[in-house]
Amino acid sequence: MTADGIVGEYLDLKREAEADLLAMQMGDFYEFFGEDAATVGDELDLKVSERASGGDSYEMAGVPVDDLDPYLKALVERGYRVAVADQHETDGGHERRVSRVVTPGTLVDPTSEAARYLATVVRAASAYGLAFLDVTTGRFHVTSVAGADAEAQALTELYRFAPTEVLPGPDLRGDDAFLDSVRERVDATLTLHATDDFAPGRARHTLREQFGGATEQVGVETDAAVQAAGAALAYVDATGVGVLASVTRLHAYTPDEHVTLDATTQRNLELTEPMTDRGVSLFETVDHTETSAGGRLLREWLARPIRRRAELDDRQAAVAALATDAMGRERLRDLLGDVYDLERLASRAVSGSLDAPGACRVRDTLGLVADLAEAVDSSPRLDDSAVATVFEGVDRAAVADLHAELDDALATDPPGTLTEGGLLAPGYDPELADVIEQHESAREWIDTLADRESEAHGLTHLSVDRNKTDGYYIQVGQSEADAAPDHYEGIKTLKNSERFTTPELREREREIIRLEERRGELEYELFQELRDRLADSADLLQRVGRALAELDVYCSLSAHAARNDWTRPELTDGDTLRVEAGRHPVVEQSVEFVPNDLHLDRDRRFLLVTGPNMSGKSTYMRQAALVTLLAQVGSFVPAEAAEVGLVDGIFTRVGALDELAQGRSTFMVEMGELANILHSATEESLVVLDEVGRGTATYDGISIAWAATEYFHNEVGAKTLFATHYHELTALADHLDRVANVHVAVDDAGDDVTFLRTVAEGPTDRSYGVHVAELAGVPDPVVSRAGTVLDRLRREKAIEARGSSSDGTVQTTFDLGRGEFTGGEKSGKQAADTASDTGIDADIETVLDDLRATDVNETSPVELMAAVQRWQEQLEE
Ligand code: ADP
Ligand code: MG
Repeated sequence: MTADGIVGEYLDLKREAEADLLAMQMGDFYEFFGEDAATVGDELDLKVSERASGGDSYEMAGVPVDDLDPYLKALVERGYRVAVADQHETDGGHERRVSRVVTPGTLVDPTSEAARYLATVVRAASAYGLAFLDVTTGRFHVTSVAGADAEAQALTELYRFAPTEVLPGPDLRGDDAFLDSVRERVDATLTLHATDDFAPGRARHTLREQFGGATEQVGVETDAAVQAAGAALAYVDATGVGVLASVTRLHAYTPDEHVTLDATTQRNLELTEPMTDRGVSLFETVDHTETSAGGRLLREWLARPIRRRAELDDRQAAVAALATDAMGRERLRDLLGDVYDLERLASRAVSGSLDAPGACRVRDTLGLVADLAEAVDSSPRLDDSAVATVFEGVDRAAVADLHAELDDALATDPPGTLTEGGLLAPGYDPELADVIEQHESAREWIDTLADRESEAHGLTHLSVDRNKTDGYYIQVGQSEADAAPDHYEGIKTLKNSERFTTPELREREREIIRLEERRGELEYELFQELRDRLADSADLLQRVGRALAELDVYCSLSAHAARNDWTRPELTDGDTLRVEAGRHPVVEQSVEFVPNDLHLDRDRRFLLVTGPNMSGKSTYMRQAALVTLLAQVGSFVPAEAAEVGLVDGIFTRVGALDELAQGRSTFMVEMGELANILHSATEESLVVLDEVGRGTATYDGISIAWAATEYFHNEVGAKTLFATHYHELTALADHLDRVANVHVAVDDAGDDVTFLRTVAEGPTDRSYGVHVAELAGVPDPVVSRAGTVLDRLRREKAIEARGSSSDGTVQTTFDLGRGEFTGGEKSGKQAADTASDTGIDADIETVLDDLRATDVNETSPVELMAAVQRWQEQLEE
């Protein structure tokens, strides 16, 4: 074929595969041509060579056939879809066909333990359907969301699963706003090529093909969910990874089974990823799992806490039983240490890539099931707890049968290659046993040949051996070569010896070769049959894998609880969150933690948390969120005692860190996020607001914080913790029934501030800005002058902020000088006004703004002096 012909074929195949890149097999290499060669050369540092043909030239880059996988992985992780065209021998020569298309969501990467989800998302009418498929384990989750905030919920689900590839349905492919939101939340490749796999009729058909029965029978009810699920299966099928049969079950769920955790909250709480390089995630802190499947499941549980009491009770019971039975637990963990990743192995069986050592891992892991079950049964503390129910969905007799079959079938230490025999136990199959016996007797004949020949012919320097070129031969030392009998046929003369064969030896050699070939073929066939039976048992293997992962997670949670003195929280359907001597699960690992109490209930809904910088406000509030979250994972919690009324969602927001540097846009983001919580949170939610409103000028900030407090208090009714540096807000507790103040105590009796880290009732009574300035080394004259200025400002001026209720009658004035509200009734219906219509003198407002906005940690002493002087001058005017 001409070079043009090859490039033409290349381009045709690539077009047909709808891929970004094509790797085309040419003999022992996979080649990339033209632009693809340049791309691959750039991305992977491969050598690109220039070929000329008939005046044209084109580029070419290749990788050896056996090395393709790591290159594919590297390309796919950079976001490319890579088609692979294999070369097949035909009668007249060969032909090439695209055998698979490797994409980020369908890459099977044996070197990584993490789940790798392909997601589909589709909009049908006002609902969104979503499906998540992990081709490495066959896990398949499907849901749909509807209603006013369906889009936000869809995005939350996408974030939760962190897919590596997202396929939007036809309606969404052109919706740039939606696609941008997806890009913001997940680090996934968006695959936007057109397909009719989302069409309802077709999707329904795909589902029926996969699972049999009507879609309702597999639990998928809405059209949107059917479309998403069908398209996901069709896509995986089309890419040719060949793992579809490992998708034996579909897990249909509704998002309201789970605690709502939006993307921002998951990040803020550092559930699975720390926010900074030095940070430690909750997952890293509590993870003591022994198996990779256990690690995956724990991660999943932390990202998806649940709401169903019954399930939580089961999980708690299991953790509790294992927490008190250290012996039983360590015994189980010991056994789990030898468990392999059955879900992954099942997928490999299905795709036909499982080798004999892999099958041995399946065998060994299945063998442990009996030991684990036995360890559970024999421990009096464990057997009636949920630990024992872990294996409930597992047909233990079937496990034992499959284990016995593998045990009978497999050789003790089989090789990774499939074609050269040695995979199976000799007695596994009568024909195999026969072949092996004949082979062995032929080998024995050869093994004893040397003795026989030297005796028969009196040759002392005689040996029998085998190599690749000569086959079997009789080797006689040069000194005795002349004495070799006549029927010896010379095949080679070496320096010190002569090699011979005989008709009989040739005959035996042919027999041995024939038997070896037969053995290789036969074992290969038998192993494939065995592998097919494993593939047929994919569902069982996945169930066992899942049960082992669960057991591992229980052991991990209970080990952490026992080592860190965590306690079993009392779960209720009520409104109370009560924590005695609670700690932050991550911070307690690295500092001597001062425990704190927390109390919220029906009549005490909203806590304003005040205290100086660095006193521990953020830690205290995150602790509340994490204790609640851990309780709804089924875990114990870091406290002496806790009562947790189950929540439907946890929302956290942290205000912008540096208002001046970040400017307006940060404030917009902050307000957008606040708006989102105001819409999404319900009476049953837990809300944590950390200095929200700080991203703007003081008066705007106070006003927004004030209004938000009132709205949460009056309209939303969520359990809320709100840390603020706006002291003025603490007076709201006198006006709103269910708002209470707590503060993080410091000892400022002397000249220094000592952080006590204890949380006490009531507001802090003063601002520590001046103290902090002193601590930071601002010169004394400036500090004392600043104190005077502050006092004078407080004495002389008051800020009025008029608020009116919906009926327009109540007025409240905030007096900055006295730090309190005046006028108005104690009312739950006050709405805040912005400060834009305060009656305060504009100059003083500017000075106050300036003073408050000054971050003493960021300002040099000289700048501070200049600022104080400027303020004095402005006030003099
Ligand atoms: P704030 O939000 O008030 O500025 P943080 O919550 O960020 O303060 O806490 C500052 C530091 O104080 C934390 O990094 C942590 O090391 C420490 N800290 C907070 N709370 C406690 C506590 N209860 N016990 C011990 N150390 C604490
Ligand atoms: Mg803070």
